[in-house]
Amino acid sequence: MIDSIALADRIEDLLPQTQCTKCGYPACRPYAEAVALGTANYNQCPPGGAEGVARLATLLGKPVIPLNPANGPERPRPLAVIDENLCIGCTLCMQACPVDAIIGAPKQMHTVIAALCTGCDLCVPPCPVDCIAMEPVTGEATGWDAWTQEQADAARVRHDRRAARLTREREAAEARAAARRAVGSANPHAPSASTADSAAQGSPASSVDDAEAKKRAIIQAALERARKKKEEMAAKGAGPQNVEHVSADVQAQIDAAEARRRRLGIEGEDASQAPSAAPLAPGSSGDESPSKS
Ligand code: SF4
Ligand code: SF4
Ligand code: SF4
Repeated sequence: MIDSIALADRIEDLLPQTQCTKCGYPACRPYAEAVALGTANYNQCPPGGAEGVARLATLLGKPVIPLNPANGPERPRPLAVIDENLCIGCTLCMQACPVDAIIGAPKQMHTVIAALCTGCDLCVPPCPVDCIAMEPVTGEATGWDAWTQEQADAARVRHDRRAARLTREREAAEARAAARRAVGSANPHAPSASTADSAAQGSPASSVDDAEAKKRAIIQAALERARKKKEEMAAKGAGPQNVEHVSADVQAQIDAAEARRRRLGIEGEDASQAPSAAPLAPGSSGDESPSKS
């Protein structure tokens, strides 16, 4: 097992770290582990391309073989570009991005930080209005000719940092839920959710209520600004497209997010276009990660 872990480390070092899942694994690290264990072949990473296969073959002492076409083609590296006039601010792309390369907030336009985008494609399927395009930016260059080791290292750091943050957020949510349950079982008559939250956080219930009220007011103001902007865009003949052809998976995510908004008491416009409950800043995604549709 130790040898397998050490080998997985060395394999991972050779992967391009776009975290695209095209190899059939949820990220580069699980693929590296599968190759180390012999449960995955070493020709399943399109972003690495033929050069990537050759690097792995050298490490593993195996022959160079063609990239498996079932995992997708080697191609010029693309960059995600959001049509900000069409974006409805649903945040689904931001939650899908494995390296936190998208910034935005609910009901506000989102944008891609070009320098951080790995071209993984993962933000495209969740977008309910098809306003994300993948545009090639490396000319004829493909695979490792279109991606540097420095870019790979930076993407790996961002991916790992995001994973750690999501773990912290999940654990904090679980701790708050446990605190609520504990308060509820100790005194079934007194507790409210906000009281339990304050107990978990060691602060008075009133300050928690104040913070929640302030948060709702800020979100409400942002929603109102977005609504006005949307009306202005509609008056100019621009607006979201394809909203009537949302996949079942994406619609379920939108419905779930809308339910969260209602729980927070946030008034909004058309529920089918308002899937997130709280402001999401760069480096602070929601607690639900959408799946590819
Ligand atoms: S870059 Fe994509 S295909 Fe290659 S190992 Fe990482 S997740 Fe898999
Ligand atoms: S912006 Fe889109 S394509 Fe770029 S890294 Fe994020 S999810 Fe991948
Ligand atoms: S997924 Fe939502 S937030 Fe992202 S670009 Fe599409 S409409 Fe905008």
